[in-house]
Parts: sequence; C-alpha cells; structure tokens
Amino acid sequence: MQTLPVYLDYAATTPVDPRVLEAMLPYFTEHFGNAASTTHIHGEIARKAVEKGRQQVADLINAQPEEIVFTSGSTESINMALKGLFWSNPGKRRHIITVKTEHKAVLDTCAWLEEIGAEVTYLDVDEEGIIDWNQYEEALEEEPLLVCIMYANNETGVLQEISKVAKMAHEYGSLFFTDATQAFGKVPIDVQQEEIDMLCFSAHKIYGPKGIGGLYVKKGIKLVPLVHGGGHQGGLRSGTLNVTGIVGLGEAARIAKTEMADNARRARLLRDQFEDSLLKHSRIKVNGKEDQRIPYISNFQLIGEDADDFIINNKLKISISAGSACNSSVMEPSYVLKALGLSTIQNVSSIRISLGSILNQSLNISLFF
Ligand code: PLP
Repeated sequence: MQTLPVYLDYAATTPVDPRVLEAMLPYFTEHFGNAASTTHIHGEIARKAVEKGRQQVADLINAQPEEIVFTSGSTESINMALKGLFWSNPGKRRHIITVKTEHKAVLDTCAWLEEIGAEVTYLDVDEEGIIDWNQYEEALEEEPLLVCIMYANNETGVLQEISKVAKMAHEYGSLFFTDATQAFGKVPIDVQQEEIDMLCFSAHKIYGPKGIGGLYVKKGIKLVPLVHGGGHQGGLRSGTLNVTGIVGLGEAARIAKTEMADNARRARLLRDQFEDSLLKHSRIKVNGKEDQRIPYISNFQLIGEDADDFIINNKLKISISAGSACNSSVMEPSYVLKALGLSTIQNVSSIRISLGSILNQSLNISLFF
C-alpha cells in the first residue's frame, strides 16, 4: 500500500470521524427514505433524523433549530445570505461592508453583486489582521444593508472581535453576517450573545462529510431563495434533503460541542511547541505569532525559499498549502498576507500548516528542514 504523506492541511478539509460515519451508515441503507415523504414511516424516520441534526447544529451555536437552513456548504450559504438579502433589499439599502482578507466565496460574491448595483466597501486590516476600526465606523455612516466579516481567517487563523463588529452594525440598522467556516466547532460561538444575524458553516471542516453545511438565519430575516422547486426548508432552499449528510453534520456538531475545549487546548500546546522549535532556526519567521487566532493554524515564512517550490519538492513527505492561490498557470502571492503588509518576498515564502483535533500524526519540525 502507498504510504501517504503527513497531512497538515486540516483547514482545507478533514477526514470523517469514525463516530460520524457510524451515525450516517444506516441512512444510506435501511433508512433511505425521503425526508419530504409524508405518507409513510420511511419518510418519517428520515425527517426525524434531519430534525435531530438541525437541533444538534443549533445547540452548537445557541440558535433555534428553525433558524438553520441546510445547504451544500459554506460557499452556497454565503451566496444565499448575500444575494438573498440583496435581492430582498430591505429599506432599499444597497451598500455592503466587507474586508479585504475574506475568503474568495465572499469576495467573488460581492464582486458579482457590484455588477448588479451593490456598492461594496472592502476594509483594510492592520498587520495583525484586525479590521481598521476607523474605516469601519466611517463606512457605517452610510447605513449599509449588511456587514460581512469573517469569524476566523482561513490562512492565518486570526479572530475578529465579532460581538463588537455586530453591535456597531446594529447601531446603524445594518444586518451582520459572519463566515464562520473556520471557527464553527472550534471556538465557542453564541449567535444570540454575539448578536449575529446570519452565519455559515461546513461539515467537512469539523470531521463531517463534504457537500453539507448550512446557514443560520435569525428569525424574521427575509432572504430571496436562490433555488426554487418544491418549497423545502420553508421555501428557502428547495431540493431533496441530504439526509446522510445532515446526520453526519449533526453528529460532528455534537462531538465538537463536547470536545471543543479539550481539542483546542491540545492543539494550542502542539502548535505553540512547534512554533517555538521553528523559531530556533534563523530561516523561519512566524506570521502573527502574538495575534488572537484559532489554535489550529500556523503561518510562517521559510526565509529565502519559495513556498510553492518547497511544497512541490516535499509533496511525497507532507501535504500542506501555501498562502498563494494558483490562478491559471501563474502562482499569485496571497492577498490575505498582502493585506497584512507582508512584502512580496515574505509573502511567497509563506506556508500555512493547519492542525486537526484528531489525527495530528507526526507534527515535527524535521519535516521542514
Ligand atoms: N469560507 C472559508 C473561511 C473557508 O475556509 C472555506 C473553505 O475553505 C469556505 C468559505 C468555503 O467552504 P466550502 O468548501 O464548504 O464551500
């Protein structure tokens, strides 16, 4: 059998937890019913499983189950939230505030909305990745429709001050959406206390299956649906529900809720030890060592090296990603690290490693020298 490289890219995706797989299995075979079938027991069993999953997700973020809409994952949820709200156009507002370091799922959606008449402000961040508060306050004076700021960044792990951002948005009558893809199940989230109006998440980042995620939409917020046909999920997202995926997402959320604190403690210890050892080498600089960030991500520079070359040359040993995105045949420096003020040379030498809560086999600095 082929020996696989050491996997250190858990922010990209995770394996399925065996407990999650076990919970899902019966819904592929004997409990295969359609959750929308109302005339028989098979449908009822599937529907009960969906409602259990909805409750488990809601419990993780202190939401009500009816405020959870299932989707194929965060990209779809982001499109649903941003386009759906823009099209419903409460108060005829057309302005959205977001940040230069958001994921492409947000930035590309905003760019598309600009083409159909939205006005978007892209906030700068400081060298720690935190939004420019003055710019934010100034932009809020235009009374935007929506503020869209991510919970934790996927390249650096940097956490924004979500409660403060949300409270400020509400003072101007704006709604607040957060992309919590990298924070959901990893740090405690309370949508009520933090005044979050909409929040997206994906199962495959927390040891659930790929192709399932959701959007929390606070009661009372009206979104125009992207997908019509059948009126499933209150008409917001039609189509037969992915019962196995929802069962997996629910179980992954349940496990995350009970194990989150211990997992975070272990990951922090492992990452900090790893970064301390890295820093003994003069060829390494850790990006954002002192920043407020989730404990699962480390972003560092291999001074004098090209990160893409390093990753390709070491592909048989280790699976990691650079901060750069491959665009056609051109490797582009990371726009996130650029926004933090890194020079192009620092940027192209940067690597992200990301840890999981389980299966962090062999995290050893010898992998990098
Ligand atoms: N937002 C962030 C911050 C992410 O890290 C990702 C995935 O990497 C996404 C959105 C897109 O998530 P999905 O793959 O579930 O569509």
